[in-house]
Amino acid sequence: MAELHIPVMTEEVLSYLDCSRKGVYVDATLGDGGHALGIYRQLQAGSHLIGIDWDEQVFEEVRKRLRGYPARVTLVHSSYTRLEEVLAGLGIEKISGLLLDLGVSTRQLSSESRGFSYHGECRLDMRMDCRLERTAEDLVNELSEKELADLIFRYGEERFSRRIARNIVDVRAKSGPIRTNDQLVNIIKSAVPPAGRREKHPARRTFQALRIAVNQELGNVERVLPQAVNSLEPGGRLCVISYHSLEDRLVKRYFREMSRDCRCPPDRPCVCQGVAELELLTPRAVKPASEEIRSNPRARSARLRVVAKKDVLKAKAGE
Ligand code: SAH
Repeated sequence: MAELHIPVMTEEVLSYLDCSRKGVYVDATLGDGGHALGIYRQLQAGSHLIGIDWDEQVFEEVRKRLRGYPARVTLVHSSYTRLEEVLAGLGIEKISGLLLDLGVSTRQLSSESRGFSYHGECRLDMRMDCRLERTAEDLVNELSEKELADLIFRYGEERFSRRIARNIVDVRAKSGPIRTNDQLVNIIKSAVPPAGRREKHPARRTFQALRIAVNQELGNVERVLPQAVNSLEPGGRLCVISYHSLEDRLVKRYFREMSRDCRCPPDRPCVCQGVAELELLTPRAVKPASEEIRSNPRARSARLRVVAKKDVLKAKAGE
């Protein structure tokens, strides 16, 4: 049985989203609906919750949980990279708040059929949406040694990426295609010397890298952020929780850039007379409290960053 996901930093998210204001709130990474339920309970009658997820399998569980409160709920099976299209399809122009809780859910990770996990035995799939064309199995069997090494180094920040890539290509050449997660785990174990195993599991970083590549996770984050900012009404909030440094860096840079009044090159006089579109509400990323990490170790790497959309016209008029 797959485990239900425990939502991370729920109190912090709810306090930043401030859903007591009447409006439309979007949870664009619905998962098992833990955060969505928290949001839903706080909404006023007349407010609207939109839940989006790329994984069709989440909706059954979430439908059971989101019942019994007066706000409207709409659930949409889509990628958050289509946020503007989804909102336009529902006739919604502006939203008051958006949550992105990036990555995979515990349920996806612990499922014995999805291939995200390095435990058990199943096909190396790792697609969040089964409409995606390439699985992890395709990548492992089709990429060249150099492409694999670069991918594992870049997305997994794995020191032994070259050795792992070489072993994958050797096994492929000798014994044919690699089909299952446990085959890959054994290949990784034989590439990483026991002395170099500082991780909880030697396959963790390689599996993370493949998952990021299959789902194009970093590109997705880059695509959704500007759409999120465009969709927010003045005063609207955007909360993003990331779980590894590559994602967090993207979010941090984008938020910093968009909350600077002037975006002219620093060595030239300002010609833009710009006013920042965003106000940074978390100058430093918010981390989970130690009690939360104790009760939910998966929260350990979480980083929450929040911005509010400014009213640029008012700001320009100096109000
Ligand atoms: N906050 C949720 C857990 C979210 S886990 C809870 O409280 O239960 C991350 C979820 O984001 C997963 O369900 C995953 O399928 C989804 N996801 C990942 N990439 C996505 C994308 N591009 N578009 C929509 N959902 C995505």
